[in-house]
Amino acid sequence: SHVEKRVVKLPDGTTVPCIGQGTWYMGDKPQEKAKEIKALQLGIELGMKVIDTAEMYGNGASERLVGEAIKGRRDDVFLVSKVYPHNAGLDKISVACENSLKRLGTDYLDLYLLHWRGRIPLEETIEGMEKLQKEGKILRWGVSNFDTDDMEELWNTLNGSNCATNQVLYHIGSRGIDFDLLPWHREHHIPIMAYSPLAQGGTLRKQLLTDPTVNEIAKKYNVKPLQIALAWTIRTDDVIAIPKAGQEQHVLENAEAAAIELTQEDLNRLDEAFPKPRKKVPLDII
Ligand code: NDP
Repeated sequence: SHVEKRVVKLPDGTTVPCIGQGTWYMGDKPQEKAKEIKALQLGIELGMKVIDTAEMYGNGASERLVGEAIKGRRDDVFLVSKVYPHNAGLDKISVACENSLKRLGTDYLDLYLLHWRGRIPLEETIEGMEKLQKEGKILRWGVSNFDTDDMEELWNTLNGSNCATNQVLYHIGSRGIDFDLLPWHREHHIPIMAYSPLAQGGTLRKQLLTDPTVNEIAKKYNVKPLQIALAWTIRTDDVIAIPKAGQEQHVLENAEAAAIELTQEDLNRLDEAFPKPRKKVPLDII
């Protein structure tokens, strides 16, 4: 598939396809579950095998739904979950991880992320992550919602540079990280995992859908504006996007976005319509 042809390399050399699947709010409505499971399974078949969940999502409902969706196909997916900051201390992280594994019906995670920074010292969370990795409960670990100063601090903490990725909000309508965080990641060869790549909700989604440049480029490729937005997010080989789609039609469209090769001219025009910041902007979070 197109998704599998474009890969992102993790620091340990493992490659993953450029588009994965988010699962926030999945499993919340019982009447939607069967549809959501089918959508996730279609996504896996189309190569979007990175599946992102968290203990937070629906209080475990998302992890349980993902567990159902991947039953019998654990080896076909790259499973990502996240620990709450208040569970990221040495005393609690192994229990939190064990509970996630149980809900997911597996005995290991491909990637475990600190959901955002809390009050627990980084060195303690890192120690917990490294322990889980040694035990084989997780294959690698990373962080989420870390701004540049947080990444610097992480790198200056014992074993902090073992971090595999940083999952942050990134889409064409919110490109603050283009100023400093993404360059920092490039310098350190750590990929970014872009969440809300389709600008879920809010006014930015509307702006994106109605923008003349995005619409013209979409017409040129005979695709939809959001597919252009997704193709934009993964325009370089060090960003993985994890759109969430509970509808099969959306899953298909997202997978197809990997086939869109935006030209330098397209990118220049999009830069004009959605300029990158000229000074530091605090990391956008949802
Ligand atoms: P997205 O930007 O992925 O948008 C999801 C919304 O867009 C859903 O309503 C979905 O509808 C719709 N959609 C999906 N594909 C299409 C399409 N092709 N055309 C039109 N609409 C479409 O938002 P999310 O905030 O969900 O971000 C993605 C994932 O990132 C999350 O699910 C989660 O896993 C992760 N995340 C992580 C955060 C963190 O703090 N680390 C914070 C926020 C998100 P439908 O479902 O009906 O198909």
